[in-house]
Amino acid sequence: MAEATIFPTVWWDGKLMPYENATINVTQIGTASVSSVFEGIRAYMNPQTGELAIFQLDAHLKRFLQSIRLVRLECACTLQDLHDAALALLRANQPATDVYLRPFAYAESRTFGSATSTRAQVILHVAAWESKLQSGAVSHAAVSSWTRLSDNQMAPRVKASANYLNSRYAAEEAKRNGYDHALLLTPQGKVAEGPGMCLMLARDGKLITPSVTSDILESITRETVMQIAREKLNLAVVERAVDRTELYTSAEAFFCGTGIEIVPIVSVDRLALGDGKPGVITQRVQTAYHDIVRGIDASYPEWRTVVGAAA
Ligand code: PMP
Repeated sequence: MAEATIFPTVWWDGKLMPYENATINVTQIGTASVSSVFEGIRAYMNPQTGELAIFQLDAHLKRFLQSIRLVRLECACTLQDLHDAALALLRANQPATDVYLRPFAYAESRTFGSATSTRAQVILHVAAWESKLQSGAVSHAAVSSWTRLSDNQMAPRVKASANYLNSRYAAEEAKRNGYDHALLLTPQGKVAEGPGMCLMLARDGKLITPSVTSDILESITRETVMQIAREKLNLAVVERAVDRTELYTSAEAFFCGTGIEIVPIVSVDRLALGDGKPGVITQRVQTAYHDIVRGIDASYPEWRTVVGAAA
């Protein structure tokens, strides 16, 4: 999201305020980040109705509250408060494009190693972020020399900002070596996920994805894709431990996540998957996902929270 334009109104602990006023002191930067957790949510325009709808809002907010709880912060906001805040924020900013919504919670702290405050401050902001679903983007991925964090160290299930240093090491290494994305292995050598996205393989007509005990973030897009694949595309989906060499022997693979959306992986460690082009199953998933997030396919209305005008 490097070049993202942040919209002028920010929500902070119950109040809408101008972006310029939503500041903390520079001396807090490091320590506030240690205990912080966040979410990343997309809202998509429906090209037919011109309506903006937030995709899987409550699923993301539930995971946000779970992350806050697991880092032992106390949050004054309920799920409904956050849901209403997201709508108020989008109505205040009135985006005319697809956007990315970022809830963020942190506690003030004076030191890196202690918990001087348990009160979560919650901030939501919104930025423009164009969808790449129809851009034809592909990924040449590489298995990282960095190991994925594990549950009893820095639990990947918790969407904590500090976890993303592990992601940064892997993503930076992949880029430096001329790849698009990294794939991280667990300490046991099984496949986990990418730095900010989950993985799906297609072998023998089935989708296979590392299980939730494979040191992954319990991704909402992964769940969404599994449901679409089973219910709309009539595909079998298996969640299990995945070996590294399965990456090389799969006919197809793709990344999935809110930010990355659905991106076909066409090679891993310079070994082409299938014919080295996006596979048929991947393309079917990508198209179905695109149509559903935008509401062009009206099924799963419970996944889309239409922003609409202020009440
Ligand atoms: N894994 C990691 C490490 C992530 O940061 C993300 C992005 N939130 C994902 C997977 C995908 O999760 P989701 O589908 O919920 O966005």
